[in-house]
Amino acid sequence: MIIQNNVPGKAYNTFGLNSQLSKLIVLDDRKDLAYLRPYLQEHPSWILGGGSNILIEDNLNKPVVRVNLKGIQVIKDNEDHVLVSVMAGENWHELVLWSLGQDYGGLENLSLIPGRCGAAPMQNIGAYGIELKDVLHTVHAYHIEQGLELSFHNQECGLGYRTSNFKTKWKGQYLITEIVLRLTKIGHHVINTSYGAIEKELAHKGITEPTIKDVSNVVCEIRKRKLPDPEIIGNAGSFFKNPIIERKQLVALQEKNKEVPFYEVDSDNIKIPAAWLIDQCGWKGKVVGGTGTHKNQPLVLVNHGTATGSEIYALSEEIKVSVASRFGIELEREVNVWSKQ
Ligand code: FAD
Ligand code: NAP
Repeated sequence: MIIQNNVPGKAYNTFGLNSQLSKLIVLDDRKDLAYLRPYLQEHPSWILGGGSNILIEDNLNKPVVRVNLKGIQVIKDNEDHVLVSVMAGENWHELVLWSLGQDYGGLENLSLIPGRCGAAPMQNIGAYGIELKDVLHTVHAYHIEQGLELSFHNQECGLGYRTSNFKTKWKGQYLITEIVLRLTKIGHHVINTSYGAIEKELAHKGITEPTIKDVSNVVCEIRKRKLPDPEIIGNAGSFFKNPIIERKQLVALQEKNKEVPFYEVDSDNIKIPAAWLIDQCGWKGKVVGGTGTHKNQPLVLVNHGTATGSEIYALSEEIKVSVASRFGIELEREVNVWSKQ
């Protein structure tokens, strides 16, 4: 366990915000959880992975705990699948590359998502038609008040569209230490190319029977082309979730906006791309002081270099207000906001 005081925050969040962290504690050994407990109790919500889904509003005056636990291990090997234990501090995309190297399937659509494995269950990371939920077997997590580690099977985690019990009703109660994934073995892979962009790109390359590596390569290429790289321009990916509305609300929306894009969630519910709503309100590529929305993807709020966390938060409020007043739809932030306590 390493404890540092008054650390500049810039390297610890992909927005590149330079808030001061009054105390940064790095957890690199599971045995140190007991020593860490008083710090976690002081402020249980500031548990840090790669910092790619947080907005730090101010200087942080309570301990921030960075989870650096490492290790990837096959713990069960069957004819058609394996169970892989992954410690929370492992980098997500490096895990994806490792799984492809072993020819284990299931993570290929989730290639190139930034961040660490411990944060993956928090919002049930998802992209290109797959969610963590589809491959997650178990989450091991340290209950901060009880001081012991508990295990939760997939179905107990409340995993939904960019949400989980860890993010909602159990918020601030657990530090996730390890996840266990159920991955397919060669001959049993389930290739999912249903997401339009993947299908198009594979067709363009003339690939008709893609392997898991083909899918991963295509996802990486699309992402590199479309999404701003936080190393170049600070951002935390999609700032808002895509709103889910009832079918009858869609009908009302279509009366004034015939061209509104939508995707069916189930027989009653429809997903509207938040990017379209924000774009329609005139926000695409807008620069507001040091912040703004990305020129190609208005769902991504960016730091042009001098933004503060409060400035980015204020912009997100303005966007919420304009979408609500034009479409009657309430946008919900996907990014976790950390403010001084
Ligand atoms: P952090 O930002 O460090 O933390 C996020 C939240 O999880 C915080 O509330 C934190 O307290 C909590 N947390 C982190 N680790 C732990 C732990 N061990 N125990 C308990 N709580 C913890 N997300 C997607 O779902 N799909 C995408 O396609 C996607 N694309 C992205 C693209 C870009 C360019 C960027 C910048 C972000 C993208 N994201 C995407 C968002 C982000 O990468 C994911 O949410 C990722 O899982 C966050 O991981 P992290 O380690 O950076 O988490
Ligand atoms: P996109 O492909 O331009 O599509 C815009 C939105 O429409 C997406 O957010 C997606 O919702 C929805 N969509 C598109 N095709 C769909 C389909 N066939 N079925 C259901 N929904 C569909 O989006 P993008 O920005 O380039 O992102 C591509 C993928 O990466 C998406 O899955 C997105 O969620 C993910 N991503 C997430 C983040 C993040 O920070 N959370 C950042 C970048 C990319 P869904 O978001 O529900 O898929």
